[in-house]
Amino acid sequence: MRPDDGPGPGGPGPLAAVPDAIYRLDAEGRFTYVNAAAEQFLEHPAEELVGRRAGEVFPYMVESLAQEKYLEVLADGRPREFEYYYEPQGRWYEVRVFADPPGVSVFFRDVDQRHRTEAAREAELRRLSSVLEALPSATVLVDEDFRILTGNRRWAATLAVPSRSVGVPGTDYRAAVTLGVSPTDSSAIEAGLRRLLDPAADGAVQPFEHEFPRSTPTTNAWYRLQAARVDGAARAVVTHTDITERVRGEQALAWRARHDDLTGLPNRATLLDAMSEALAAVPEEGGVALLMIDLDGFKTINDSLGHGIGDALLRQVGDRLTETLRPGDSVGRLGGDQFVVLARRCDDSEAAALAFRLQEIFVRPFVATGISVPLSASIGVAVARPGMRDGHELLSDADAAMFAAKSMGRDRVHLFSPGLREAARWRLEVATRLRDEAIDQLVVHYQPIVRLDTGAVEGVEALVRWQHPERGLLPPDSFLSVAEETGQVIPITRWLLVETTRRAVEWAAQGLPLRMSVNISARHFSAETLVRDVRTALHESGLPAEQLVLELTETSVAEDPTRAEDQLSVLRRLGVRVAIDDFGTGWSSLAQLFALPVGTLKIDRSLLTAAEQVTGGDGGAVLAAIVGLTRTLGIRSVAEGVETVDHLRMVRAAGCDLAQGWLLGHPMPADEVPRYVRAVQEAGGDLCALAVAGTPVTSLR
Ligand code: C2E
Ligand code: MG
Ligand code: MG
Repeated sequence: MRPDDGPGPGGPGPLAAVPDAIYRLDAEGRFTYVNAAAEQFLEHPAEELVGRRAGEVFPYMVESLAQEKYLEVLADGRPREFEYYYEPQGRWYEVRVFADPPGVSVFFRDVDQRHRTEAAREAELRRLSSVLEALPSATVLVDEDFRILTGNRRWAATLAVPSRSVGVPGTDYRAAVTLGVSPTDSSAIEAGLRRLLDPAADGAVQPFEHEFPRSTPTTNAWYRLQAARVDGAARAVVTHTDITERVRGEQALAWRARHDDLTGLPNRATLLDAMSEALAAVPEEGGVALLMIDLDGFKTINDSLGHGIGDALLRQVGDRLTETLRPGDSVGRLGGDQFVVLARRCDDSEAAALAFRLQEIFVRPFVATGISVPLSASIGVAVARPGMRDGHELLSDADAAMFAAKSMGRDRVHLFSPGLREAARWRLEVATRLRDEAIDQLVVHYQPIVRLDTGAVEGVEALVRWQHPERGLLPPDSFLSVAEETGQVIPITRWLLVETTRRAVEWAAQGLPLRMSVNISARHFSAETLVRDVRTALHESGLPAEQLVLELTETSVAEDPTRAEDQLSVLRRLGVRVAIDDFGTGWSSLAQLFALPVGTLKIDRSLLTAAEQVTGGDGGAVLAAIVGLTRTLGIRSVAEGVETVDHLRMVRAAGCDLAQGWLLGHPMPADEVPRYVRAVQEAGGDLCALAVAGTPVTSLR
């Protein structure tokens, strides 16, 4: 822009109307023209200035920046633009100098206000920058257009990529912070900041926070972004705290809450969720099946080989199960030695087929630290009924089926049926009641044990019953297996030992010294409190040890023979007698049994009936062989389940020492025992003879 030639100094002309102040100087620095605005700024009328050298009127200008620029323009003809602080007035001017041969035109205006605001802003920025520098997290100051005004060193080191001009001052903040961030997070960040930076928003606008993951080729981190508006201005301080460690910790915790530590498989809670989800899915997809897999005898493995090997085996089972599944099916561990498979699109037969397939993973033995361990599992299968929504229900069905499989022996598969649910409900009731009140409802019945030579009642076997308030008197089969599972059998037996020894002492005081036989469960052996419990009972009642017989089933002894042997030896030394119960129902070898300090063998009823059914030959021969062997070993034998006179003859012929059975006396309540024994004594004392003679023993009570 070149100012028009004016007609004369300060005279009217086009430039007079221009709001900018304008003057012209010739090559010697003399004023040739001054417009009205310039007259005002320079505080001299045009006629005073025109013709005079600028340096003469304004000595301050000599060797000033203004003079320097003027000379430069004169020299090269290119325009100059600069800000100039005119000291006499103490104000800032913006000055533009153009070549206007033979001299120059100078345009200038007062920018003092603007200059001061900017300077203040810059000072503030510098101040803010130093504050930002002190912050430990990556921090930037952004303006309303998302432009980065400044950022601290931490920002430059972590989030900015100066080589690509990302995140450096002057560039768009969003480009830097949303690099490697999901579109959802990116737009959340942008929206949050936009609200904060809205020039129309007042200073009280709430700070904005957002947590997000950010992954670039070099980093994988989590950040918490916190942005706050600076004092009223449309600018925001944005900090980015690296929260990776915390988030990872939380994620690990969350994972652990949903998974089993040992195998890494989903845990019970996760499985229940998956079940509910599967059950809620469209029914056209077919049924949901749950397979409960319980390893057989795993406790023994753990106890004998140690938990290290036990754990390794469980992991391998988890791996093999996982490998066997179809895509879409899932496996989890409920805890202990129980695994669960959730299968979708399954009917009964497909679920059963899957169970058999799962059984095959146990064909190959498992190997842990060089030891090869054969494993098997009992599998319960339940398929959801139409309308079933609750995962717990399916789980308890599968559990009931598994329980049924277990009770059939090892390595079995059992399919759920509604009858099992009733059984499961009963087990649950028993488990709760036994824990809370039922121990007070237990009663003991006593069954006579009779000498086969004299027919005298030598002792009684204590048999527990539950006087159930609604269901009446319940036999031990209906609740003892549950008590075994829950461990309640131990306090029950402890109570029973005290009760029965006390009873025996009471009867002895009445002149009826009856030997007391008490059944002991396998659980009691593993709990290792048996010796102490027996000692306490003997001590408290005062019963002589040899008047107490502990009956153990051969299977309970076979489970852990060494442990059994240790405890039995201590008991034997105390003087307590030990009997093996239900002989003939297990598979333990006689040799193994006779290695134990056992004084009595109780031959199971099933052996008697089996012997009875051997037609045309001498069924008693097997019996006689067993009895003969026990006798040479100094072990007495008791025939159980003598119901008929034929039974009595057979067991007598076989050489049994003692007999027990309905023929000789049913189990009876405690207060009937003295009467019964006295009645036998009064009738001659030979119960066997009375029985053979057909005297109904019930009439003796
Ligand atoms: P067990 O120790 O073999 O007891 C003998 C069982 O045979 C008793 O059944 C008894 O009533 C029954 N019995 C006796 N004579 C005859 C007979 O002539 N014919 C037939 N068919 N049965 C006869 P009960 O009382 O139902 O007990 C069943 C099992 O429960 C017992 O078998 C024993 O193993 C267990 N048991 C009973 N009381 C206790 C206890 O206090 N503790 C433990 N751990 N187990 C117990
Ligand atoms: Mg018994
Ligand atoms: Mg028995």
